[in-house]
Amino acid sequence: MVSLDNAAIAERLEALAALLDLAGASPYSVRAYRRAGELIRTTPAPVAELVRSGRARELQGIGGGIEARLRELVETGQIAELEELRAEVQPELVGLGRLVGLGPKRMVQLGRALGVSTVDELREAVLAGRLREAPGIGPATEAKVRAALEQPRHSPRRGLTLNRSRPLVAAIASALDGEPAGDPRRWCDTSHRLAVVAAAADPGPVVARFRQLPEIVAIVEEEERRAVGVTVEGVPVELVVASAERYGTELLRATGSGAYVSSLGELPDAPDEQGVFRALGLPYVPPELREEPLDGDPPALVERADIRGDLHVHTTWSDGKASVKEMAEAARDLGYEYLAICDHTRSVRVVPGLDADDLRQQGEEIAAVNEELAPFRILRGTECDILADGTLDLPDDILGELDWVQASVHAGQRGSKADLTRRTLAAVEHPAVRSISHPQGRIINHRPPNAVDLEAVYAACLETGTAVETNGLPDRIDLSGSLVRDAIRAGVLITCSTDAHSVRGLDNMQNSVATARRGWCTAANVLNTRPWSSLAQRS
Ligand SMILES: [Zn+2]
Ligand SMILES: [Zn+2]
Repeated sequence: MVSLDNAAIAERLEALAALLDLAGASPYSVRAYRRAGELIRTTPAPVAELVRSGRARELQGIGGGIEARLRELVETGQIAELEELRAEVQPELVGLGRLVGLGPKRMVQLGRALGVSTVDELREAVLAGRLREAPGIGPATEAKVRAALEQPRHSPRRGLTLNRSRPLVAAIASALDGEPAGDPRRWCDTSHRLAVVAAAADPGPVVARFRQLPEIVAIVEEEERRAVGVTVEGVPVELVVASAERYGTELLRATGSGAYVSSLGELPDAPDEQGVFRALGLPYVPPELREEPLDGDPPALVERADIRGDLHVHTTWSDGKASVKEMAEAARDLGYEYLAICDHTRSVRVVPGLDADDLRQQGEEIAAVNEELAPFRILRGTECDILADGTLDLPDDILGELDWVQASVHAGQRGSKADLTRRTLAAVEHPAVRSISHPQGRIINHRPPNAVDLEAVYAACLETGTAVETNGLPDRIDLSGSLVRDAIRAGVLITCSTDAHSVRGLDNMQNSVATARRGWCTAANVLNTRPWSSLAQRS
């Protein structure tokens, strides 16, 4: 019997899912393994014991097939299919291929044609000019692969959003007893540099463990105290192994940003970051503010614990997955005092939306749940669509009944600056509207920010006492940190919201708060750090 903790079991299932995916298995079984991995990661009880006592299927979503794999893993320490797939689909080449811009199929073909299966063998083949022996490889591809292999600093082809970057570096850091660094530690909305820093007098064993991690399929660079590994998705992760006396120095350097770190000049050696700042004669600067060379002393930034309620969540009334009561109980368990239910309105056609009658019916449900959960307070709210002419998608009488109205543009994000600004300003000036949600409407890696004139929006918000949101959905993060800073400099208040569509989505508050911190927000700059009694009236 092998002792495996839940994280190790989850890693194997996720690795199996990734390889099945590469091998072209049915998306259904890929998803089943991925979900089982996620579930096991968050199960408090030791899953290996459940498996041994034949009780694995008591876990939701674990069927007979997955149970058999789990039994094999717990009994033998490995999953035979996983090892077979590793040989067949060559994750090392797939990861490397994605890093250099070649799809999995093409890369595996290339590996077979050249008889190579590791990074080193591929590098040799490239240097020997053998790449063009492979069918379908022309001079342009050869040049691309060569350039990518020779590049001094690898970065992913697309920035990773927070929901991918932070768990990846966290998992690697915890396996190496290190700490996450790089862009994810600064809560960048898209991470290009992922790093982990570990402390050890002798770096050898740490680098060796890094090489063996299930997340790392290939090592593309290696020095004595530094290595760069790549995931099967082609994402490079840098490992820095620092000596104890220089740990703070190396953590600060690996956290970046490059522009910030170089503004500090030569870094003194120190065992922790506080020591580095002290030696430089500077106050400690939280990672979220280390983007540009600092202009001024860091303020006392808003913290997650300052947040008293979430002002933007959805329920099963529109496209959410949980009921009013389930969302409210979860919010109460997070320590909040209030929660605004803000389902969509009718004109957002892609998902179910509510009209005035629906909102009144929902109001009855909210009143009943409020009686049960008092003193916790559920607010009747809406995420009201801003129509093409700038009017709102609900009549004024119902808007006047609601506790909390926020408005957002959904259709027409690619409209002109004049158009989007006119629509947004009309909503800001509506007496019922308290906040503008996801003002730029961007979807990271998918749709660019819209053309709205934010300066004009901030000026109008200041006049009317309207807030702007920093939306915590990892593919939105809208407003982003630097725009939050512009808003608070203009005197506008921020709402830190999750836009949660499920109970788990409430955790996106950490993304929103981190983004507000990147925008230099104190608790006073954030509307929902206030109790509902003082928030109910517009300031
Ligand atoms: Zn929305
Ligand atoms: Zn929403």
